Formats: sequence, C-alpha cells, structure tokens
Amino acid sequence: MGKSVVVIEGDDAAPEAMRPVVELLGELAPQIQFEYPPVGERGNELHGNPFSPEAKATIDQADTTLFGSTSGSSGAALQYLRWGKQTFANVRPCTYLPGCSSPLSNPQGIDFVIVRENLEDLYVGIEGDLEELQFLDRVGRTVRKRVRDFSEGRYAVKVITESGTSRVVRFACELARERDLQNKVTCVTKHNMLRGTDGYFLELARTVASEYADIEFESFIVDDFACRLIREPQRYDVIVMPNLYGDILSDAAGGLLGSLGLAASGCYGHDYAYFEPAHGTAPDIAGTNTINPTATILSSAMMLEYLGLKEQAKKLRTGVEKVYSKGDVLTPDQGGASTTTEFVDAVWEQCC
Ligand code: ATP
Repeated sequence: MGKSVVVIEGDDAAPEAMRPVVELLGELAPQIQFEYPPVGERGNELHGNPFSPEAKATIDQADTTLFGSTSGSSGAALQYLRWGKQTFANVRPCTYLPGCSSPLSNPQGIDFVIVRENLEDLYVGIEGDLEELQFLDRVGRTVRKRVRDFSEGRYAVKVITESGTSRVVRFACELARERDLQNKVTCVTKHNMLRGTDGYFLELARTVASEYADIEFESFIVDDFACRLIREPQRYDVIVMPNLYGDILSDAAGGLLGSLGLAASGCYGHDYAYFEPAHGTAPDIAGTNTINPTATILSSAMMLEYLGLKEQAKKLRTGVEKVYSKGDVLTPDQGGASTTTEFVDAVWEQCC
C-alpha cells in the first residue's frame, strides 16, 4: 500500500544529509511518495508565511514526517509536529555499531534507549520578569526567601503534569517489554532538589511501572546518573526522564557512541509520529558535504518501521552496520575522509 511522507529538509548542513537519504529511501521503498510543503524560507517566498495552512494540511494528510534539524526557519512546523500533534515521547536509541569511533575503551554492547518527555518541563516557554511573581507569598524551601526579596531577575516555569508523565512512562514500559532485552526502565530526575516537580514525576513513574510486573524499575538522580551512564552504559535498557535532562543526556549518549551524527530519534504520540536526527544543524560544516548522515538514515529506519515497512528498515540498518564494520567509507567525525554522499552510496550498495 502507498505511503506518504512529508520531508522538511532543515537548515545549514541538515539538507546535505537529508537529500541523499531521501533519494536512497525512494529506491528502497518505492511505495513512499515524498511531499515537500513549502515551510521556512520557501514558505515565506511562496505564501508570505513560514508555516502556511497549506503546509499544515500536507502534514495532516501524510502518514508521517521526516524532519531535518532546524536553526529556527522551520520552527513553526516543528512546534506543530510536537505540540500540535502531541508527540509526547521522544525516543532516542543509542546502540554501538562496531567500527564507530567511540571514545570508550569498551563500547561493545551499548544498547539503550532514552525516552525523553517531549512537551513539558522547562520547555513550555513560560518565562518572564521576577517582578510578575511578586504576588507569591511563599518562602522558598531552600533559599528561605520570597520572590520579592530577590533582586531584579527572570524566572522560567517547569511544568510536570500527571497525564504527561504517566503517558510517557507507560510508553517507556511498553518499549522495554517490546525490546525484551533487560526488561528494565530507569527513571532519571532531580527529585532531591525539585521535590514538587521531579519528585512528582518519579512518584508517578513508580505508580505506572508497578502495573508492569515483568519490568524492573529503578531510579537515579540526574547528576549521579550522568556519571553512571559514562562508566557503565551497557547496564541500561530504557531510560525515561523529563524534557531538559533528556535533551542534555541524549547528546552525551551520542558522544558515548562517537559522534552526534550517530544519534537518531523518533517522536511518537498516540495518533502521529515524526522522525528527526537528534543532532542540531551543524552550521560549522555547512556546505562541505561532510555531515554524517547516519542519524538521518537511522531515524529513517525508525520511520520505515512505523510505516510497517520492516523489511526495508532492516535492510537500511544492516547497510549502515556493514559500512561501519568495513570502515573504509567514513565521514570526518568518524575519522574518515569520505563525503556525506559517498557514505550514503556505500550504505545503498550494502543494502541491496
Ligand atoms: P541544537 O541546539 O540544535 O541541538 P547544537 O548546539 O547541539 O544544536 P549541533 O548542530 O548539534 O549543535 O552541532 C554541535 C557540533 O557537533 C558541531 O561541531 C557540529 O558540526 C557537530 N555535528 C552535529 N551533527 C553532526 C553530524 N551529523 N555530523 C558531523 N558533525 C556533527
């Protein structure tokens, strides 16, 4: 059956990864029709709007979206894909592929997934002047001051809701069950300092996890966990956490594997999912055809699975694994001298 995928190429170096990968996908899965709604600069030129109602309708009609990293121009489209489509679980697999240049002496067997809550926490964007909160009469638990006792400054609101937390933890438990590897969920928070918010996240996580008798549940404080993840990454299976820690630790996880260019991601809601590399737009290497497209390829493999094209997803993953294990066509971040397009061509040769 035909599938439709919206492609948003992204900014800076991101399109240099996205274009050859979409070409490869077109060969591998000819049943996919790719749509390119004008968003960002092109949207401005054509409709005077970086995210027009037409672009929104194209996303609504498609089965999914493949999104290249943006530095802001496609920000409105990204907001719609996240908050509009309620894609609450940002899934970031971290699996060591032999041949990748990890800084660890023993990266073998690293195979965990970060499930980052994608819609809440400090990322709701409610910030302002402390002056606005002068009406709050309560004394801080740690500083023992009222808001009006601080000098001029700013605040940000951290939102942790019951429904937002329960659904992402449930997603993590289901994922651990589906992976059937260690059958373990690790919850990461700063509940010792932020009892009202992170303590709540942890309490809700415990409650949800208690419904899964076959899944082991454990929790760590985020700073301690950062150290544990580097010392013993093989110990973890599915790791669930609020938005901000997930954002930061995902980049650290990419570093454990050897490059941000290896970190794939998919953002899932109940009715929609979209897929994007976890790294940024790599502006410093834009125009050089050297961005590592592995994250874009592996995000595409997640997308193929979501579309029910499991055979093609497997071929794509196997292609990437073979290219790394051969090791003669690698991008500079992996110690090679090959270009982005040469890497994608090599994956294509190994796929078929
Ligand atoms: P964001 O805040 O949007 O996540 P960032 O500030 O984390 O972005 P990135 O764009 O991810 O920044 O880049 C950080 C560094 O990693 C840069 O030096 C960049 O070139 C490098 N980098 C990121 N992605 C890749 C990639 N796919 N291939 C090679 N290098 C990359």
